Amino acid sequence: TATKQKHSFQTEVKQLLHLMVHSLYSNKEIFLRELISNAADAADKLRFKALKDNSLYGDDSELAIRVTTDKDAKTLTISDNGIGMTEKEVINNLGTIAKSGTADFLQQLTGDQKKDSKLIGQFGVGFYSAFIVADKVTVTTRGAGAGINEAVIWESAGDGEFTIEQTEKETRGTDITLHLKEGEEEFLEELRLRNIIGKYSDHISLPVEMHKMVSDDDADKTPEFEAVNKATALWTRAKADISDEEYQEFYKHISHDFQEPLTWSHNQVEGTQEYTSLLYIPSKAPFDLWNRDRVRGVKLYVQRVFIMDDAEQFLPVYLRFVRGLLDSNDLPLNVSREILQDSKVTQSLRNATVSRILKMLEQLAKKDKEKYQQFWDEFGQVLKEGTGEDFANKEKIAKLFRFSSTHNDEKAQTVSLDDYIERMKPEQEKIYYIATDSFLAAKNSPHLEIFRKKGIEVLLMHDRIDEWTISHLNEYEGKQFVSVTQGDLNLGNLEDAEDKKAQEKASEEHKDFVERVKSALGDKVADVKVTMRLTDTPACIVAGEGEMPLQMVKMLQAAGQ
Ligand code: ADP
Ligand code: MG
Repeated sequence: TATKQKHSFQTEVKQLLHLMVHSLYSNKEIFLRELISNAADAADKLRFKALKDNSLYGDDSELAIRVTTDKDAKTLTISDNGIGMTEKEVINNLGTIAKSGTADFLQQLTGDQKKDSKLIGQFGVGFYSAFIVADKVTVTTRGAGAGINEAVIWESAGDGEFTIEQTEKETRGTDITLHLKEGEEEFLEELRLRNIIGKYSDHISLPVEMHKMVSDDDADKTPEFEAVNKATALWTRAKADISDEEYQEFYKHISHDFQEPLTWSHNQVEGTQEYTSLLYIPSKAPFDLWNRDRVRGVKLYVQRVFIMDDAEQFLPVYLRFVRGLLDSNDLPLNVSREILQDSKVTQSLRNATVSRILKMLEQLAKKDKEKYQQFWDEFGQVLKEGTGEDFANKEKIAKLFRFSSTHNDEKAQTVSLDDYIERMKPEQEKIYYIATDSFLAAKNSPHLEIFRKKGIEVLLMHDRIDEWTISHLNEYEGKQFVSVTQGDLNLGNLEDAEDKKAQEKASEEHKDFVERVKSALGDKVADVKVTMRLTDTPACIVAGEGEMPLQMVKMLQAAGQ
C-alpha cells in the first residue's frame, strides 16, 4: 500500500490561508473563478507544450473543464485534462508561495479585515481560496506524459499541513475536490454554479461543462455533459473572421442595449503592452447620460478571465458613452478597483483606449457623415466636456466638434472647426463665435451685423456648455477663439482704413450724445462708445475686454455661483 507523507506548509502559506479565509468570506464565490482559471491555465500550458510534442495529448485532445457535485458526500469537484502536476510540482505549487516579495507583503497586513482583504486581493488569492468554502481539499493529479500509476493525491484541511500519496489516475490532468464546510451547500446547487460560471467564465476559450439537467424520470441514466459557458472569447478571434453581425450581437450581449451600435473598434495589441480592446459607440444615449456619477466604463478582463464591469479607470468622464471591454495580459488576475487606481498599466491602457476612441470617431466622421451626425446629435454635448477634462487631447477632441454657423444659418450642428478654417478670409487670424441660450438668439444677435456685412463666418453656439468648452480650448490650430460680444472688437487685418476713419469721425460728431447717455446710465455701465459693428441695430451691450463673457456669467449664475 502507498504511504502518506506529511508535509508542512511554508510559514507564509499558513499566514495567508488564515487571513484569506477570514477576510474574503464576503466574496467567497471567487474560489470557483480561481480554480477554473487555474484549470484554463493548465490547458493553455498543455497546448503550448504540445506544440513541440503532440503526443502529450495521448488520445484525449479535447480540452475541457468539468464541474461536478456529489450531494451526499457534499463535495464539489473541478476537473481538467490540462498539463497536470508531478509529485514535485504539487509539493511546490500547493505548499509554498513562489511569488517574490511575499514576506514583505505579509508584513503589510494589519489585522484590519477591510484593509487586509484589499491587500490580499491585490496579492492574488489563487488556489488557496478553496479553503474559504472547504474544510478539506483533495487534489488528484497526473502530469501530461506520466503513466496511470504515476499520479499523486494532495490533501489538506488548510490547517498547516498537507499529505502526499501516490495513486492511480486513468486520465491526464487534475481533479480538485472541495469538501464543503457546513453551510456552504449553495455550491452544490446546479443553478447557482451555472450562474457563477456564466458570470466569470463565459468568455474563457475553453468549455466549462456540467451535467445536463435531467428530469426525474431520467435520473437513473448516466448524465451527459454540456458546456455551460459560451467558451469563445469573441475578441480573441482574428478580426477578419468576425462578421459585422457577430460584433453587433456581442455588443448587445455586453451592453444590454437592444439597438445596433453606430461603430466599433477592435484592437489586438502585442509588444511592450499586451491587450485587446473592443470598443463600441452606441447609437442612442442612455437615459442617465447626464448624470456624471452614473456607472461608466468598460468591462475588464485579464487573460480572458472576466474581472469586473464598469472599470471606470479606463475611461475619462467625457467618454462615458463608450461601451466595450479591455482584456489585458499585463494586469494580475486578482486586480481590484483599488489597485487599478494607481497602476502604471492602467494609465497606459487608459491613454491607449482614449486614443482609440478618438481615432474611431475621427474615422466615422470621415467615412460616414450621416452616422457621425447621429453620434454628434446624441453625444456631442458630452464630448464637449473633454476640452476641460483631457488637456493633452484637446486638439483631437476639438477636431470632432460640430457647430451651427452663419455659413448656413441652420440650427443643426454640422460645421467642423476645420470647415471653418478652410473658409476663413485670407486676412483672418481668429475664429469668431457667439454663445447664447438658444440658436435663434445667436442667429439674430446684433453682434453679428458687421460680420455678416463683411462676409466673415461666425460659429453660433447655443449649448449650455459651449462657453466653458471654448474657454478651455482657447485656440484651435493656433487660431484663437474670439467672442463677437467682446468689448473692443479688434478685427485686426479685417478692418479697413475707411472703417477706422469713419469710426473716429462718428465718435467726434456724436461726442455730446454719448456723454449724455453715459450720465443717464450712471454706474450701470462702464463705458459708452460709438461702434461700427452694428449695421441695423442702434445699440448693443458688450462685455469689457478681459471680462467674463456674458454667457459664462449666466452659466455660473445658473450653477449657483
Ligand atoms: P497562480 O495561478 O497565480 O500561479 P495559484 O495559487 O492559483 O497561483 O496556483 C498555484 C500553482 O499551482 C499554479 O501556478 C500551477 O502551477 C499550479 N496549479 C494550480 N491548479 C492547477 C491545475 N488545475 N493544473 C495544473 N497546475 C495547477
Ligand atoms: Mg491561479
